[in-house]
Order: sequence, then C-alpha cells, then structure tokens
Amino acid sequence: MQRKKTRQIQVGTVPIGGDAPVSVQSMTAGYTHEIDTCVAEINRLTDAGADIVRVAVPEKKDTAALSEILSQVKVPIVADVHFHFKRALEAIEAGVHKIRLNPGNINDVEQVHSVIDACKANSIPIRIGVNEGSVVERKDKQKRQQELASFFADRKQGHLLAMMVAKVEEYLDIFEGRDFYDICLSAKLMDARLVIDIYQELSKRFEYPLHLGVTHAGPRQTGSIRSVTALGSLLSQGIGDTIRISYASDTVFEVEDGIELLNCLDLRKRIGAELIACPSCGRIQVDLFKLVEDVRNQLVNDINVPIKVAVMGCVVNGPGEAEGADVAVFAGDRKGIIYVQGERVANVKEHEILDRLLLECKKLQHKVMQGEAKLGEKAINIVAPITVEGNTT
Ligand code: SF4
Repeated sequence: MQRKKTRQIQVGTVPIGGDAPVSVQSMTAGYTHEIDTCVAEINRLTDAGADIVRVAVPEKKDTAALSEILSQVKVPIVADVHFHFKRALEAIEAGVHKIRLNPGNINDVEQVHSVIDACKANSIPIRIGVNEGSVVERKDKQKRQQELASFFADRKQGHLLAMMVAKVEEYLDIFEGRDFYDICLSAKLMDARLVIDIYQELSKRFEYPLHLGVTHAGPRQTGSIRSVTALGSLLSQGIGDTIRISYASDTVFEVEDGIELLNCLDLRKRIGAELIACPSCGRIQVDLFKLVEDVRNQLVNDINVPIKVAVMGCVVNGPGEAEGADVAVFAGDRKGIIYVQGERVANVKEHEILDRLLLECKKLQHKVMQGEAKLGEKAINIVAPITVEGNTT
C-alpha cells in the first residue's frame, strides 16, 4: 500500500509521519490529578500496545501532576488543552511530549503565540485539532467558506466540511506565521462518511501528518464499526499517520482495536497470535463461542509470536477455512483434533481442547524462538472427516 508522504514530527521517542509506521494512540478516561490511577491507566494502555497516550489537563492540579506521571510511564504523553493556554505552558514546563490544542477555544491569539513559542523552544510538536462541535461560523470567514463549499458541493453536509477546512487553514496561518511547522492535524466528526471526506481533503491540501479519529463514536459495539469504516477506508488509501479509535468504554479496547485494524491492513507487524474462528452453524458439536473466547484470552497472555491459530467447529468447511493456520483445532462430537503445522498431534475431549491447544501454541512459539520452526510454512491440509476415523469421534 502506497502511503501519502507527510512531514515527520517527533513525539518523544515516537515519530509520526514521513516513513514512520502508523502509531496507535489512546486517551486516559480518569482524572489526571489522581496520579496513581492515571499512571495505572497509562501503563495498562502501554501494555496493550499504545504508542502514545493523551491526558486531559483542564485544571492546574492536572498539570501539577504531570512531572510525577511522566517519571512513572514509558510512552510519550500528550497534554490535551482546551480554553486555558496556561495549562499548555505548564504542561510544556513539566516535559510533556506533545500538545493538543484547538486554537479556536483560546480567546487571545497572543496566548496561542506564547504556546507556539514555548513548544518551539522545547522542540515539542502540536496537534491542531478541529472537531465538528467546535467549528463556529464567523462572518469574516464566510467568503473562504463559500469558496471551499464548492469543493464539497456534492457531499453530504458540504458546508460543515468547508467550515472545518477553513478553520484548519485559519489556524495554520497562526502557526506558520511564527515559523512553526512541527504540526499534526486532525478534523474529527461523528459521521464516518464525513470523516473520510474531510481527511481526504486535508491529505490533498497539506503535507502535515494526519491524526485520524472519529469523535463521539459511541460504545464499542457501534463505535468500532463507525471507526473501522472511516479509518480503515482512509488508511487503505494511504491516508493517516497516527490513529485513535475512541469508545465510551474501557480505553484498552481502543488500543486493541486500533492495533488489530493496522494488523489487518498490514500496516503494523503483528506481535502476538492471530486468531481465526468459524462463526459456528448447525453442525457444531462443542461450545465453540466459549472455547474461542477462552483461547483468545490465553493467547493474548501467553503468545508473543505471530502464530496463526484456527478454532473450527467441524471438519466440513474447517480445513479449507483454516488454510495457512499454524495451529488448528477441528471440533466434533465433544472432541477436538489438533493440528500443528499440518501434522495431526492430538485428539482430545472437549474439556481438554483449551489446555492442549495452548500447550501446542507454546511449544511452537518456543521452536520459533529457537529458530527450529518457521511460521506460515506448512499449510493445514486435512482430507479425512472425523467421522470416517471411527474412534476419533
Ligand atoms: Fe459450521 Fe463447521 Fe463451518 Fe464452523 S467450520 S461454520 S461448524 S461448517
């Protein structure tokens, strides 16, 4: 996939844009001034694979907590600033790695200048974040919005998109006017189609790296569809340098789903196991959903190499659908036949499937780490159905 080339910025140890891999971000849901819980949440997100974590700093007590938080975490931290430019200055002083700012909700442009100057002096990038809710129509910008509206004339809510692009341009004038280019851009909306439209336009117009996200996506059940629709479409067009999937839910899900999205698009090297599972049907003869959930949870904990694991409810379609899996189980009549790299290694009772499957995954992981086996080399190729083998059922 050809990615759009953008300028590169550096957020602590993590580059964004240019030839850097697409990074995954999340934002803590708790209060930043509650240091222990904030650090615990950041560390959970880090363990889940987050590259960068953002924290809100609405009050002075939040920025006052930052240096202690920074000393206890391993990922770059972004301070999310709204309304109070002093929070940005305090966060910079504390050593954060990036500022997220919406200049539109800071009244005085001189205050924005002071934040830009402090970031410049400390080599800290800024994300200029424009959300649909924060776009306020201003009379003096109407002409430009009308010009831009023609670009979006055939789009749903073209006027809103035009206003958002005009806002980004207006803010960039402020930053570029002070020779500041360490910038990342975002323009988030709730509607997936509009998110695709606006980021396509930003990508055409600007060289700055883009932070992709859908705002107010909702709970994971619906938010994941909305986010993956928008972000998956953009990323598959080569647009986007860093992503945040946001849910009204446990923030770890944001990271897990962001990483899975990048894995699916081959934009991130898979670290742990990849799980394939059949959807189940009337041929099923084991409690497949529970088995799949248990396998998934164990694989997350125990496997750190990209083993492809298949959990199939029967041998009717299972072998074909599990093609390419390194480890697979084909269930039938309260039993499971387990294959490792094309070789049948076990035939176990239903209650033994989980432990045996994981044991085989761990054994294969060990071999891979010792250089004794290569993943993806031996395809699953099974022809005999379980019932033909008499004793196996
Ligand atoms: Fe049904 Fe078997 Fe396919 Fe699973 S693998 S969906 S049980 S036919």
